[in-house]
Amino acid sequence: MMTKIPARLHLAENEIPKTWYNVRADMKQKPEPLLHPGTRKPCTPDDLAPVFCKSCIEQELDDNTREIPIPEGLQEFYRAYRPAPLIRAYFLEKSLDTPAEIYYKFEGTNTSGSHKLNSAAAQTYYAKAEGMTSLTTETGAGQWGTAMAMACAFYGIDLTVYMVKVSSQQKPYRKVLIETYGAKLIPSPSDTTEAGRKILAANPNTGGSLGCAISEAIEVALKTPNCRYVLGSVLNHVLLHQSIIGQEVKTAFHKYGVKPDVIIGCAGGGSNLGGLIAPFMGEKLRGEADYRFIAVEPASCPSFTRGRFAYDFGDTATTTPLMKMMTLGNGFMPAPNHAGGLRYHGMNSTLSQLYKDGYIEARSEVQTDVFDAAIRFMKVEGILPAPESSHAIKAAIDEALECKKSGEKKVILFGLTGTGYFDMSAYESYHAKTMSDYIPTDEDLAKGFATIPEIPLND
Ligand SMILES: *Cc1c(COP(=O)(O)O)cnc(C)c1O
Repeated sequence: MMTKIPARLHLAENEIPKTWYNVRADMKQKPEPLLHPGTRKPCTPDDLAPVFCKSCIEQELDDNTREIPIPEGLQEFYRAYRPAPLIRAYFLEKSLDTPAEIYYKFEGTNTSGSHKLNSAAAQTYYAKAEGMTSLTTETGAGQWGTAMAMACAFYGIDLTVYMVKVSSQQKPYRKVLIETYGAKLIPSPSDTTEAGRKILAANPNTGGSLGCAISEAIEVALKTPNCRYVLGSVLNHVLLHQSIIGQEVKTAFHKYGVKPDVIIGCAGGGSNLGGLIAPFMGEKLRGEADYRFIAVEPASCPSFTRGRFAYDFGDTATTTPLMKMMTLGNGFMPAPNHAGGLRYHGMNSTLSQLYKDGYIEARSEVQTDVFDAAIRFMKVEGILPAPESSHAIKAAIDEALECKKSGEKKVILFGLTGTGYFDMSAYESYHAKTMSDYIPTDEDLAKGFATIPEIPLND
């Protein structure tokens, strides 16, 4: 007799995975290498050493090691808030009257409120181990800044966060939380860096941008002894750290005898999606199992569904290494969207390659539909979702409704990346019906594409 799957698929502390899984090891077609922005030759560890921690650089450039051990001093921190809950959405299934089974992995239980803490803790752990005394970073919506502030408080490292000025004004409580953990928060652009002063001189009233905040954070890291810069998404070592999400799900599914058919994640720079699908993608790449993977992005910032596969810069100031990725162009300006964590012009290079090779499907959604799904979900499952995460909810509901039509009993898994406690103004604008569902025209996109540098290797 089949035993009923519990509402929570528990893992004991000793079942938390002790290694990360590097999906690149199982890819026949590896992602293209990072290129140095000056020489346009593949980046060497020495090129990256002034900016990033050594261990992260090794992981960034390692396309071959399949299992990478999670250091004990980091496992210790992970055990304080993991395993993250894996929940059978019985109530959502019932409300949709679907024969499908729906599961979600909820990464929002830690105080920072999202999966970003998984990589923040890892990068901070390595910085400490390598003798660094301070770190710098940028934050847009504030989730990454909060996660870094938590991790730096725990490991005893100073942190300076450059927060996009408009965000620091729109989300004052994110700022308070970051400062309460002991980090220094500077609205960007600021007069503390050359990059910031230059931008302010040209445009004193600017609300700032992620690209500008990145330039400021990198400048300070380069000028300060024993200081490095950390980034919360897009890069391969961040995806590697996030594979803890998928590893936990895989362990729990194995324990309870569940086999997913469809795996869904929202996609900004790709870190939660990459982490959630990693071990399952590995099985698919090795020919051991088959799954459908679905990336969901905002219609206002459609890097997968309408982007180009090209070498592009990671920032608007065109200072980072070049990455071969699905991109809208480093100069692309997305229309205002409440899912701040998904407003990025590019996509992680590993996921971009997998998408190009047909392993991942992608779709885009407008805000109002995403919030409809969020509210439908929270009323039955109880959890207030982040606007970013709600993109995955929307696709999961659509897949479950397809099953209702066809009578198929699919098993659907999605990543619920965070909570929406700091996004009340977004919910407010949903209720007030002032939310914009603007979809960029081809002309809008053309302006972004024009900022993609010409690299002969481009398709
Ligand atoms: C940052 C963020 C995302 C998007 O980032 P990825 O790197 O694509 O995962 C999604 N959800 C939440 C809650 C976030 O904070």
